[in-house]
Amino acid sequence: MSNGLQVIRAQSLRTRNTFGIDATTPLALRVNDPAQLPEALAMAPDALVLGGGSNLLLVSTPDAVLELANDDIGVIAEDGDHVVVRCGAGAVWHDFVMATLRRGWSGLENLSLIPGTVGASPIQNIGAYGVEVMERIIAVDAWDRHEARWTRFTATDCAFTYRDSRFKHEPDRYVVTSVEFRLDRIPRLRLDYAGIRDELAVMAIDTPAANDVAEAVVRIRRRKLPDPAVIGNAGSFFKNPIVATGLAEALRGAHPDLPVFPAGSPDCCKLSAAWLIDRCGWKGHRDGDAGVSAGHALVLVNHGHATGAQLLDLARRIAASVQECFGVAIEPEPRIIGARW
Ligand SMILES: Cc1cc2nc3c(=O)[nH]c(=O)nc-3n(C[C@H](O)[C@H](O)[C@H](O)COP(=O)(O)OP(=O)(O)OC[C@H]3O[C@@H](n4cnc5c(N)ncnc54)[C@H](O)[C@@H]3O)c2cc1C
Repeated sequence: MSNGLQVIRAQSLRTRNTFGIDATTPLALRVNDPAQLPEALAMAPDALVLGGGSNLLLVSTPDAVLELANDDIGVIAEDGDHVVVRCGAGAVWHDFVMATLRRGWSGLENLSLIPGTVGASPIQNIGAYGVEVMERIIAVDAWDRHEARWTRFTATDCAFTYRDSRFKHEPDRYVVTSVEFRLDRIPRLRLDYAGIRDELAVMAIDTPAANDVAEAVVRIRRRKLPDPAVIGNAGSFFKNPIVATGLAEALRGAHPDLPVFPAGSPDCCKLSAAWLIDRCGWKGHRDGDAGVSAGHALVLVNHGHATGAQLLDLARRIAASVQECFGVAIEPEPRIIGARW
C-alpha cells in the first residue's frame, strides 16, 4: 500500500463478479483516491475497471483489474427546487440512492437496488421502472487513458441511449471517477411503470413519498429477480431489440400477444427480448451449470461451476434461435471479457 493505492497479487474474482465465475487475476489495484490513478495505471495500463462485477461475463481472466474505492457524496449547487450532487465512482449504487432519499432528494428512487457502483451507472445508462439514469446525470468526470489527462463530460457528450453510452463503445479508454446528478427537492414521482402502483396499494400507501416508491421497487425486484448471492447471474443478459416498425407490425400480426414498446422514433419499436426467448422455449433450460432462470427468460444463471465460455455458448444459441424463429437479432447487455459477441 502506498498513498492510498493498494496492490494485491493473485486476487480471486469469484466473489467480484455476480455470475460467480471462478478466475484469479494476477494483479488487482485498488485506488482510494482518484489522484492515484496515473500511478496505478503506470503499473497496468490496460487494467479492467471493475465495479461490482454485475454487468460482466468473464470468458477469460483479465491480466489486471482496477477498483475505485472513493465513495464521497458532496453538494455542488443548490437552488430552490433542485440540488446538484457529486458522488465518487466507488460508491455502491443502492447505498447512494438511499443516501439521497434520506437527505430529501428524489429522482433516483425507481433505480433502487440495481447492483453495482456509481461509476458504472453511466456506462450502460442504467434504467429500471420507467427511468433511465441519463435523465439525472449532468456530468461525468474521468481519466482518459489515451490522452493521459483528466476529462469532464456533459450529459450530451456522454451520448446516452437505451442501455448505451460513449463509454460502452470505448470500454478501455475512460476511468470514471465521479458522477454529478441533478435531483429534486420537490418530488416528481414516476408511478406509471407496471407494478409500482399495485405494490403501493399492497403497502396501503395512497399518497406516496419518494421513499415509498423506492420501497415498492425494492419489494418488486426482490420478488422477481434472482439474487446473485443465491444463484450467479448478471440480471438481464439481453437488451430489448429495437427493430423497424414494419417488422414489429408484421411480427405483431403473426403473434398478437408480442409486447411492442415505443423506441423514441416512429421508424422503430422496442420488442420484449424476454418474450422472444420464452417463445423459443428457453426459460428454465439448463446445460450443466449454465442455464436460463426458470422465472425470468432474460436472465442467464450459473448453477455452480459454469465457465464464462459455457454461458457465452448458451447465450449464442439462444440468440441464434430467436434470429431463426423471428428474424430478430438480440444482443447481450453485459460486457464480455475475452471474447467477441
Ligand atoms: C440481479 C441484477 C439486476 C440488474 N438489474 C439492472 C437493471 O434493472 N437495470 C440496469 O440498467 N442494469 C441492471 N443490472 C446490471 C448492472 O447492475 C448494471 O449494469 C451496473 O451499472 C453495473 O455496475 P458494476 O459496478 O457492477 O459494473 P461492472 O460489472 O463492474 O462493470 C461493467 C462495465 O462498466 C465498466 N466500469 C465499471 N466501473 C467503471 C468506472 N468507474 N469507469 C469506467 N468503466 C467502468 C467495466 O469496465 C465494465 O465494462 C443488473 C444486474 C444484476 C446482477
